Amino acid sequence: MRLRVTSLPGDGIGPEVTRQAIRVLEEVTRSFGHELELTEKEIGGAALTAFGDPLPPTTIAACLASQAVLLGAVGSPAFDRNPRELRPEAGLLRLRQELGAFANLRPAVYYPALRASSPLREEIVKGTDILIVRELLGGLYFGQPRSIEGAMGARQALNTMRYGEPEIERITRVAFELARGRRKRVLSVDKSNVLECSRLWREVVTRIGADFPDVHLSHQYVDSAAMTLVQKPAEIDILLTENMFGDILSDQAGGVVGSLGLLASASIGGPVGLYEPVHGSAPDIAGQGVANPLGAILSVALMLRHTFQLTKEAECAEGAVVAALDAGLRTRDLAKAGERSVTTEEAGTRIVELVRAAETTTS
Ligand code: NAD
Repeated sequence: MRLRVTSLPGDGIGPEVTRQAIRVLEEVTRSFGHELELTEKEIGGAALTAFGDPLPPTTIAACLASQAVLLGAVGSPAFDRNPRELRPEAGLLRLRQELGAFANLRPAVYYPALRASSPLREEIVKGTDILIVRELLGGLYFGQPRSIEGAMGARQALNTMRYGEPEIERITRVAFELARGRRKRVLSVDKSNVLECSRLWREVVTRIGADFPDVHLSHQYVDSAAMTLVQKPAEIDILLTENMFGDILSDQAGGVVGSLGLLASASIGGPVGLYEPVHGSAPDIAGQGVANPLGAILSVALMLRHTFQLTKEAECAEGAVVAALDAGLRTRDLAKAGERSVTTEEAGTRIVELVRAAETTTS
């Protein structure tokens, strides 16, 4: 298979972690006999510096001409005073819209080797493997009208939560299809005791769920689901929800399993998938070579699975990450006091070696 990928390293630690993720992608594609066609473009502060635009037309064109995009991170204190549309983050928001990716996937997986990173007791968090499926282009964050109006001291702010049936249907289908490749359970989260949007959500999810009799569907109010996430996280398989609830619950799920540097994400549903680690550009450690590249590497695994349907290849990259952690590999953010830590580059090299070793054992 020929894999056409655009890489957008971005700012801060973005280029450092992306470099390692690309090395792993190159090794996996080589090992499994695929061909990788890679284009690198600017986004965020890097693009502002080069072109005065956080998402130049050349970057959009390259992304739309590829099958998947790997993004590092955007954001730099150098642009903090810029107007909103000329800040690095504006480039990423526009890119998500350009790619039409309506389904955001955020896995939250517990790694036994990192039990100390979870704030929860091991017997509670053990076995946690959640996939949050969040609707990304609708709801309160995009609904019109929106405004702040009125005289100082008496101003009124307005946002609109709006969902149409087709928007709910398409994200529901994504969740159910994904459930078929997992533990076949979908938990749909809403607030249907209070919100009309949620009443429609629950009705549509139930209707679509009937097309998937092999998948178990349950519903929960968002407040109660937030509690389940910390009390019994291992019981959740796929958590399907709307934009704002998903924004909050996906960070909560990330916190339950531990380290920010390990969290990966995918935004799919449009013609081109966008894959990125959850963390930002971390200006406090940028340029020091100590950033954790595992979130970016796991984002590559998501790309292999969801854009290219290359399950074995995805498992190979994920397996290498688990094996490295089990063998004690720790970047500075993961190391406990007194524990030796590796650099970003060393971590990447170790994962590449483990991918290569897996090839030797299977061939
Ligand atoms: P951040 O995620 O960049 O950093 C938060 C903390 O976690 C920092 O202490 C950082 O050193 C640490 N950290 C983050 N990623 C790490 C990694 N891979 N390895 C080791 N440590 C890591 O969040 P922030 O500090 O709130 O934001 C910094 C900049 O990033 C801001 O400009 C923000 O707008 C931007 N940002 C971008 C994205 C994105 O590109 N998707 C996401 C969040 C924040």
